[in-house]
Amino acid sequence: MKNYVCLFGAVFLWCVLMPALVKPAIAGQAVENTNESEVVSTGDSGVSVCYFDSFINQKINMGLENYVARALSFLMPENIPYETLKAQAVAIRSVVCYRYENNEHESFYLCSDPEHCFSLAAYPREDCVKAAEETAGVILTWEGKAALALSHLSSLIKTENYETVYGKKIPYLVSLPVYDEKDMPGYKTTVKLTVEDFKGAFSDYSVVFNDDKEKWIGKTEFTQGGRVYITEIGGLRFKGSTVARLLGLKSLCFSIDINEDEVVIQTYGNGSGIGMSRNTAVLMAKEGEDYKKILEYFYPGTSFSVIKAYKQN
Ligand SMILES: [Zn+2]
Repeated sequence: MKNYVCLFGAVFLWCVLMPALVKPAIAGQAVENTNESEVVSTGDSGVSVCYFDSFINQKINMGLENYVARALSFLMPENIPYETLKAQAVAIRSVVCYRYENNEHESFYLCSDPEHCFSLAAYPREDCVKAAEETAGVILTWEGKAALALSHLSSLIKTENYETVYGKKIPYLVSLPVYDEKDMPGYKTTVKLTVEDFKGAFSDYSVVFNDDKEKWIGKTEFTQGGRVYITEIGGLRFKGSTVARLLGLKSLCFSIDINEDEVVIQTYGNGSGIGMSRNTAVLMAKEGEDYKKILEYFYPGTSFSVIKAYKQN
């Protein structure tokens, strides 16, 4: 139980402190709010960022739109509807500005942790360059500040409420219905483990796996978005995020089925579940929605703004 409590403490501290540990790389600040109808990309936001490349252990300066195009190329597979690419370009740019405005990095750069900032492709794809250029400088804002426009690959039925996961209310990151994504990539994953490997995953905890396998999994509580919030395993209550980490699951929407000699875990959705589901963004674009409609749906109450006054230090 002691280890269990310690681990929750560590996870809690990680969630709370992680954003504070790490100050990004845009030179300057200030975002100009404009009416939606006035938001027109300039084609080049003229803003530069500094990206820390952990592979070569070096800081690299680049234009914001080059950064967005390369992050987009890494994140999005080929043949994605163009309006989805543009929506994701605006979301990436918004997150970058949010990290900067909230001083989330110690020094003046964007980190290479994909859980916090973005991984970059070595070279940007042509469609991603075009999407970045056509939306250059456009971001989402909430009350005049850059919005934390997080996204994930896939959700089952609903996205997740940010507050449920991180304990902090962000009014535009709420649980929202998604389209039927069952034919989309990353929707369902099956993990099969031997009974011994399953038990081994919980070896750091005082879990009791008795002879009656049916009693290994107890009561489960779900989040607003239908993900596992708390589940009882071997008599101990675990956070869904802890179980997902221990078992290497891609989402907090999972079910565990314990058979005679193997444990089958079905996982639905892929990623944090917070913000825009890229699969639904693809389906919306295929229905003819443009990038603004997609973003307005996933980040309700935000406004479109253009970065105007990021000054070089
Ligand atoms: Zn970062």
